[in-house]
Amino acid sequence: MIRLRLMKLANQGYELILAEALFKLGARPPVVRSACTIGSKTAIRLYKTIHRRSPKQGMLPYDPYWIVRSSVHDLHASIFLGLIHDLSQQQNQTDRNAERFITAYELYCRIVANNPQPSKLETSVPQAILLDINRAWQLAGQLMSGEMSLVICGKCQARYVVLSKMPKPFQQCPICDVWADSTGRRRWMTVKPRKNTKNQDH
Ligand SMILES: [Zn+2]
Repeated sequence: MIRLRLMKLANQGYELILAEALFKLGARPPVVRSACTIGSKTAIRLYKTIHRRSPKQGMLPYDPYWIVRSSVHDLHASIFLGLIHDLSQQQNQTDRNAERFITAYELYCRIVANNPQPSKLETSVPQAILLDINRAWQLAGQLMSGEMSLVICGKCQARYVVLSKMPKPFQQCPICDVWADSTGRRRWMTVKPRKNTKNQDH
């Protein structure tokens, strides 16, 4: 009986350690609660202890099409989801989802911060971390549910993420199927340069 109680306490302690790690990486309480088995009040209390303020209220931002909005978004999602996929393929099946998620997200942050030639979009955010942890949680869910999948580019062999139900022409490689406009912004091949706009008349 005592042993059972101790095990329960140890488990609760472990959940709190995971929750703390997630909060420190910027996760909001709803994400932490879906990743760890902690109650709502505990989550808020922990958040306040770490950040010394109350968490933001309201729904989490959710954009199912985030990865196709920019090839740079797709590159970042591909790095992160590739790590999630690879870690889930490893031997240790007892690994918790939350642990895998934290490991993949920390690795992702380290990888993108070391980009020697960041794009405009990447230089606009601290340490080039375009993928916020709350969005990362959403993307991991989309990959697990099959809404997104990882494919290999036939040209450059890079592994990248696509929306599974999109027609093939919209599942473009974020490395090969892009062009740079006059401002240096990377655009998908399917987004053609604008012609005959009023500003170009003179
Ligand atoms: Zn490619």
